[in-house]
Amino acid sequence: MSKLQKADIKFVQEELLKWFEKNQRSLPWREKYEPYQVWISEIMLQQTQVKTVLPYFDCWMKALPMIQSIAEVKEDKVLKLWEGLGYYSRARNIQKASKQIMEQHGGDFPSDYDDILALPGVGRYTAGAISSIAFNQNQPLVDGNVIRVLSRLFFYTKNTRLPEADKQMWEWASAVLPKGKARNFNQALMEFGALQCTPAATDCRPCPLKSRCKAYENDMVDQLPDRGPKKVSKNIKVAIAVIKKGDKVFIQKRPATGLMAGLWEFPGGKIEKGESAIKALHREVKEEVGISISNVRPIKKIKHAYTSFKVDLHCFAADHEEGEVQLKSASDGRWVELSDLEKYPFPAANVQLIGDLLR
Ligand code: SF4
Repeated sequence: MSKLQKADIKFVQEELLKWFEKNQRSLPWREKYEPYQVWISEIMLQQTQVKTVLPYFDCWMKALPMIQSIAEVKEDKVLKLWEGLGYYSRARNIQKASKQIMEQHGGDFPSDYDDILALPGVGRYTAGAISSIAFNQNQPLVDGNVIRVLSRLFFYTKNTRLPEADKQMWEWASAVLPKGKARNFNQALMEFGALQCTPAATDCRPCPLKSRCKAYENDMVDQLPDRGPKKVSKNIKVAIAVIKKGDKVFIQKRPATGLMAGLWEFPGGKIEKGESAIKALHREVKEEVGISISNVRPIKKIKHAYTSFKVDLHCFAADHEEGEVQLKSASDGRWVELSDLEKYPFPAANVQLIGDLLR
C-alpha cells in the first residue's frame, strides 16, 4: 500500500469535518456527550442500526439514568431492557462494567484510555469511540463504516477480514485523525459511511471526497470493500411448548453462560433429522424438565434470523400431564400467569409468540 500523501490527508480531514457539520443526525447521546450516554450508545450500536437503537436508548436512560442504577439493579431488569437487541452478553457486560466503575472509579466513568479498555465488554473500537467522542482524546477507531470509507478512498482491494487488513485500517484511521478534533472527525467518518459512502447503491455524485477517491477513479466502488467469502448461516428447527397447568404456564431460565445466557424461554429443543416436531417436543420436555405433556396442539411457526443462525420455531400449546418439574440445564424455572410473561426477558423469537398469546 502506498503511503498516504499529506495533502490527501488534509483534504479528507477538512472535507469530512465540513460534511459532518452539515449532515450529522441529531442523536440524544450527541446533546451533551456525557460519557455514560456515549458508552451505552456505543455498546447498543455494535452490530445494530441507529434507528433500532433509539427507542432502546430512550427506555434505558429513563430506567437507569446513572451508572449506579445499573450496578444495583437485578440482571433480569437489565436483560428486559435489552430484549430484542440481541448479543445479550453486551448487556451483562455493561452491568459488570458498572460494578467495576463503582468500585474502582467511585461511580465516575473513567477518562483514561487504558481504564476504559479494561472495562468488561470494551474492546479497541469501543475504547477509541468513548475516549474520542466523550472526551475528545486523540484515539482512532475502526468499525464497518470506517473500513468501507477507507478501503474505497485509499483503494484497499484485498480481503478486509484478514488481520493484515485490520492493521492497515487502524494505521490509516490513526493517520487521518486531526489532532484535537477527534470527537467530530471520528463521528464524521462513521456517519459518512452510514449516510453517504453506503454499502449498497452508493451515489457518489454528491460526495465531497470523490476527486481523491481511488475506488471512484477506478470504477470499483461496488466491489469494495472485499469482505471475503460469504458465511452461510445455519438453519435449525426447534419445537417449544407453552405448557399449561391450571391458569399458569411454565417458563425456565437459560444458564448463566453460553448462548442467550440468563434469558427466559419456553421448554423445548432441537428437532433431530427425520424426527417430527411433536415427537421432538415430547422428548425434549421430558429431558429438560422431567414432565409429561398431553393435548399437544400447534399454535404457530416463527422464522427468526439471529446473527449467526436462523431458526424455524414450531410453537405448540400443551397441558401438563404428570410429574414434578426437575430442571436439567436451566438455572431457574417457574409457573407464571400469562399476564406476567411480559415481566421476563425472552429471546426475540419467543417475544413474538408472547405477543400472540397475550392478544
Ligand atoms: S466517491 Fe463514492 S466511494 Fe468514494 S468516498 Fe465518496 S461515496 Fe465513497
